[in-house]
Amino acid sequence: MYDLIQVGENTYYIESPVNVGIYVDSTKEEKEAWIIDTGLDLRMGKRIAKHLQANGWKPKAIINTHCHADHIGSNAYLQKEFGIPAYSNGMDCRFIENTILSPMALWGSYPPKVLQTPLFKAPDSSVRDISEADLPQGFEVINFPGHSLYMIGLRTPDDIVFTADMLCSPFVFEKYGIAFNYHAAGYFRQLDEAEKLEAKLFVPAHGEPFTDIKALTEINRKAVLSVKNLIAEICRTPHTFDELIQALFNHYNIPLTLGQYAVTGSTVRSYLTWLYDEGIAEPLFENNLMRWHTKQ
Ligand SMILES: [Zn+2]
Repeated sequence: MYDLIQVGENTYYIESPVNVGIYVDSTKEEKEAWIIDTGLDLRMGKRIAKHLQANGWKPKAIINTHCHADHIGSNAYLQKEFGIPAYSNGMDCRFIENTILSPMALWGSYPPKVLQTPLFKAPDSSVRDISEADLPQGFEVINFPGHSLYMIGLRTPDDIVFTADMLCSPFVFEKYGIAFNYHAAGYFRQLDEAEKLEAKLFVPAHGEPFTDIKALTEINRKAVLSVKNLIAEICRTPHTFDELIQALFNHYNIPLTLGQYAVTGSTVRSYLTWLYDEGIAEPLFENNLMRWHTKQ
């Protein structure tokens, strides 16, 4: 854990719970390192700095694949240490600049303290749009909307693709049952695009690198559909949102906590959006109680 692993001529990643990518631009006199995501907190920032220093690489810039706290946690530390810019995509930039927005989006209002801990809220950092980055020649930005609204993947000139949180490893489904998505329907559609990608190697943010993107896409597609179908099935009998959460957590045998309620609850709402927008489920109101109901 936390070793620097070489996966291409100039492409590396630091193996950790949230893998950190490093692309070294060796065309420059002093080799420059592009850092892809910065982990959960400043401890990861210190590890990144140590690896760069040990190899004589000058930090050039950070690219955040998306705005989630475990991908931007040491932006502020690295920017303070090295004065480097950070880049991300679209509205995710606003969430990186104002990190209260992530727990606010999960909770739907001012979030309690437990949702402002490092797992949910990183320190604010300054960030520019990826379109402004002077990327090394051959670098490609790949749009992966759905998990967060504007998530991106990155292909380095060595043909290594960092897939961010686009494809979950099977262990995520085993542990959580339902993988986080901001926009489940959009994510599901995006899987069709992800499946077509070709690369020498794919490096996800969580888990081991892989080569067979089709197999992993299929696992994710099935997982998303099984959650969608399960919610539709449960709501054949009208359920309040909290009853639905209870049924899902019981089904997956996961203990409910406030954090899980916020994260998985947010994802379940996005599935309800999907089912409602497709006309499969509808909200019923009775005695000022809202229940979700799957139409027959
Ligand atoms: Zn994420």
